[in-house]
This record gives sequence, structure tokens and C-alpha cells, in this order.
Amino acid sequence: LSNRLDGFTESIIRKMTRVARQYDAINLSQGFPDFDPPRELTEELRKVADEGPHQYEITWGSELFREKLALKQTKRMGIPVDPATNIVVTCGSTEAMMAAMMTVCNPGDKVIVFSPFYENYTADAILTGVTPIYVPLAPPEFEYDPATLRHAFEQGVKAIVLCNPSNPTGKVFTLEELEEIARLAVEFDTFVITDEVYEHIVYEPHVHTYMASLPGMFERTLSCSSLSKTYSITGWRLGYIIGPAKVIETCRKVHDFLTVGAAAPLQKAAVKGLEMADAYYEELTGIYERKRTLFLDGLDRIGLKYYKPQGAYYVLVDISEFGEPDDYKFCEWLAKEIGVAAVPGSSFFREDVRQYIRFHFAKKEETLTEALKRLEKLA
Ligand code: GLN
Repeated sequence: LSNRLDGFTESIIRKMTRVARQYDAINLSQGFPDFDPPRELTEELRKVADEGPHQYEITWGSELFREKLALKQTKRMGIPVDPATNIVVTCGSTEAMMAAMMTVCNPGDKVIVFSPFYENYTADAILTGVTPIYVPLAPPEFEYDPATLRHAFEQGVKAIVLCNPSNPTGKVFTLEELEEIARLAVEFDTFVITDEVYEHIVYEPHVHTYMASLPGMFERTLSCSSLSKTYSITGWRLGYIIGPAKVIETCRKVHDFLTVGAAAPLQKAAVKGLEMADAYYEELTGIYERKRTLFLDGLDRIGLKYYKPQGAYYVLVDISEFGEPDDYKFCEWLAKEIGVAAVPGSSFFREDVRQYIRFHFAKKEETLTEALKRLEKLA
């Protein structure tokens, strides 16, 4: 078998979903909702079953989908997005990130990745023949050290991967941080590959700024995102890359040969989501705000220590006081004996850090309440 695969393990996030099923545990590991998408989308999906399309769409995304996405993102990002030249529709942001990296990097290149990080980035880098240079984010605010970041840029990197709002920390990068990263990207002439799938899940007073919207950054940013989290359709696998026409032209080639295209019927049905009024996004934020309060209040009652997320729907919980040095063993025990599945924190860290587990709270309030009831045994 290929030696390339030695550089990373299977996805621990996806593995924990299997562990949750095995022990019939409440799955707070792999982050996806247990509630339905908006009715507009499911009703349209029923209609599409009768009316189609059921065949291939244009490889880089249906015209209607790109048009509606361009309208929405032009408004949200505050920069003009041209549906004809600035968009590739992908199979989830998972493909978007991989295609983006393959588009801008040669084998042997280096990319900066903040640690902790969403585990796909290492796999993307290794499969692309790229070496990740990790820059630590230090709790409690998960700030980076500016000198370390500059030093990483000095090593001749091709791109920096920026997950904002961030998985697993829930960090929302401040405008000052983004401006600093942008200055470095310009100074060292690098690309920024963003993962902004939690763009609509941001808690006050924090504000998410799109890297591509900063002066001069559109030209060097590949903004990856997806509809999974925003419309609760993780299984539809609809993502996209927005970027400058010249780069997107190459990206489309990569995407075409990787997957030919995202599912045509699902693109059609998802247009109903892209057409939602602003109120939908405010409502979504409100829903997650309530889930966050419910879950974090529960953790407080139990006496668990955690870092309060500023965005996204994850929380890193500190398990050091339980005296189990192996976070994998702890998660296995938690799923089996307590009936709640979490992700061992070390799968997100480059450094040898084993004192955290990650819960997600994208679940119905009753699911979260039941999970907290089970977790009370930890008090
Ligand atoms: N982003 C989700 C998580 O971190 C998982 C997404 C996936 O498995 N593709 O749990």
C-alpha cells in the first residue's frame, strides 16, 4: 500500500460515530444535527424527485445554484462574487479544501495550519504531498504568538489554512488577527485557504469577518464553505470554493477530475436555502445560542471545565481531574459506561495534549438534556 497513508490515521471523528452506534451512546462526537433541515428544502427535494434533474450538472455547479450562492455571498461577504467565474460547487467543504490545496500547492510545498485543527487538514496536506507547519493556538483565548506565526511564514510557505469560526476551539478570529494574517500573506506572497463552514454560527459579541473581504485579499484567498451546517444538511455534501477567476479556473479542473460534480438534484433543492431571507440566519444563530447556553450551563452544574466557544458548535472540555492520561480510553469509557460519545482532543492537536475531549451541541434540546443527565454521573 501507499506510504503516503502512513502519515495519518483514519478519522477519529468518524470513528467515534461508529463507537457511539456500537454502545448506543448519544453522539456528541461527529458534529451534525439530529434535527431536520428547513421545510422549504425538504419539500423542494420531494418535487425534484418527480421533476429532476437526475443527470449530471455542469461540473463546477448548476447555473441556478451558483447564481443564488453568488447573490447570497456577495451580500454576506460584502464583495462582488461572479457566479460565472468565481465559484466551484464541490462535494462538501471536505472536497473544497482538498481541491483548493491541490490547486495552489506543488508536492514539497509547505502550508501553515493552526493547532488545534480540524483533522482533515493534515490528511489534505499529506495526500497532496505538502508539509504542514503548525502554529499553536494557546488557551484560554486560543491566541497565536505573532513571532511564531511570522517565523512559520519565513519558512517559504505556499498557503495558510484558516478555520474561522474554528473547529474544535470555537475561536472566532478578531479583525486585528485577520489583518495581521493578511499582512503576512501579502508580505510573503501566499494564499489563504479558509474553512468558513460555521460562518453563520457566531455568538455575540463576537463577529466573523471573511478573510476574502479584507482589502487586497480576494485575489489570494480561496474561501471554502458549505451548506451542511447552515441548513442542517450535512448528508447532502454540498460545498463550494469562492476565489479569483484565474485560480478558480484551475480549481474547476481539479474538482472535475476528482468528483465530476456535486449531486444535481440536491443542488436544485438546496437553492431554497440560498434564497432564504436574512431572518433565517439570525434565527439560526439564536437557535445555537440557546443550545450553547443549555449545554454550557449543564457542564457548569456538573463542574466540568471548558473553554467557552465564541462560534461554531463545539466545546473542548478539560478532563485532567479525572486522572485518566489517555483521552482515547476516556472517550471509549464515556461512550460505553456513561452513554455519551465525544472526540478525544488529542486528535486535533499537533502537540502531545491529551487533557481535552470535544463535545458538539448541534442537537435537539431534549437530546442535550438527556446527554447532560447522563454526564451528571461525572459530578
Ligand atoms: N466537522 C464535523 C466535526 O468536526 C465533521 C464533518 C465530517 O465528518 N465531515 O465533527
